[in-house]
Amino acid sequence: MTTKAQQYLTHFRNIGIAAHIDAGKTTTTERILYYTGRTHNIGEVHDGAATMDWMEQERERGITITAAATTAKWKRSGTDQEYVVNIIDTPGHVDFTIEVERSMRVLDGAVAVFDSSQGVEPQSETVWRQADRYGVPRIAFSNKMDKTGASFELVLNDIKERLGAVAAPVQYPMGAENEFKGIIDIVRQRAHFYTNDLGTDIEETDIPAEYLDKVAEMRAQLIEAAAEVDEDLMMMYLEGEEPSVEQLVAALRKGTIEKRIFPVLCGSALKNKGVQLLLDAVIDYLPSPLEVPAIKGKVEDSEDSIEFPADPEGKLAALAFKIMADPYVGRLTFVRIYSGTLQSGSYVYNASKEKRERVGRLLKMHANSREEVTELKAGELGAVIGLKDAGTGNTLIGDGDDKVLLESIDVPEPVIKL
Ligand code: GDP
Repeated sequence: MTTKAQQYLTHFRNIGIAAHIDAGKTTTTERILYYTGRTHNIGEVHDGAATMDWMEQERERGITITAAATTAKWKRSGTDQEYVVNIIDTPGHVDFTIEVERSMRVLDGAVAVFDSSQGVEPQSETVWRQADRYGVPRIAFSNKMDKTGASFELVLNDIKERLGAVAAPVQYPMGAENEFKGIIDIVRQRAHFYTNDLGTDIEETDIPAEYLDKVAEMRAQLIEAAAEVDEDLMMMYLEGEEPSVEQLVAALRKGTIEKRIFPVLCGSALKNKGVQLLLDAVIDYLPSPLEVPAIKGKVEDSEDSIEFPADPEGKLAALAFKIMADPYVGRLTFVRIYSGTLQSGSYVYNASKEKRERVGRLLKMHANSREEVTELKAGELGAVIGLKDAGTGNTLIGDGDDKVLLESIDVPEPVIKL
């Protein structure tokens, strides 16, 4: 049961973006931050230069890429509902295994970016298996559809064969390489043609006749995957009936979260194609903090553990996951709040260091600004200024609460066996 106080969490997504080096993680992240950017009115910019300038500046200032958690907002296309999307920086290099694993603890879902001309590369396999161990729901983005040798089918087959995963193609590219023109949304059976360089003018049409056979084939794969989690859908599938869009989205969402089914999308981050549809898919298929298992805390001197469901009115439980030195404000401690509410100016107990610590100011990091806030609630991520002792991986609880240490997420049996 979701209480009134927890309601806002249904519109939260805490995600990471994981990729093999060079697959386009940075470019995809930048584009996401661009389209979700609050101070940039995309509609007013009509030549690609302005975007690039802004991104270059950001790159030089290093803000977009170095914040450990960036808070963005996205209005789901076709609705008026705004979502908070927190993007957690996941180290791309496999050598940082512990860091990768630590970041896996603070995110609820991930976007796996692949290079369509390369398919699934060995390093991507490693990160993928780590995400499997932590039970992180994922969607896959087959990037670089504009590149020579790009093939959506290559990525799709590699996900199935090399990763042994159940792939659900929710999109299909129209053309590839220089001829990459747009994307078919297989769930809604609509074609999206991009008519400007920023990817902001999109013409939506019926599926062109030349793609009907291919889309039917992909749709069959998609429905088969979704039917695994929905008996009604399975019956309809067997009887040759078409499910509704809502039914299909709901089943895919459940499958992604509970059964590790992987919706596969495509696009070109560099050419601004497919990024908004990717954000819509983050909303549609990846879980809110209420839909992932509650984090557990181990009670001191006992075998007992207690759960901390995502609830702003619960006891405070937060994890410091990254410390950064900031030239202006000094030490920034990035935290994820699992339960309770962290107040600026309050005292917390660092259960890992066994020290009482004073919380100074609290910040939410946006792509191009910092917002000072008075509190961070369950499900939120942000930075604390003023914590002197907290280190990466430390548990923060309420001052005076019984000592508990947040456990690493239980490692579930992989649902999909190789
Ligand atoms: P990362 O190492 O995963 O962060 O990858 P980057 O985002 O830095 O991209 C690596 C290289 O691939 C850069 O030269 C990008 O410009 C290029 N790149 C990224 N996305 C695309 C794309 O969609 N199409 C093409 N052709 N190149 C891309």
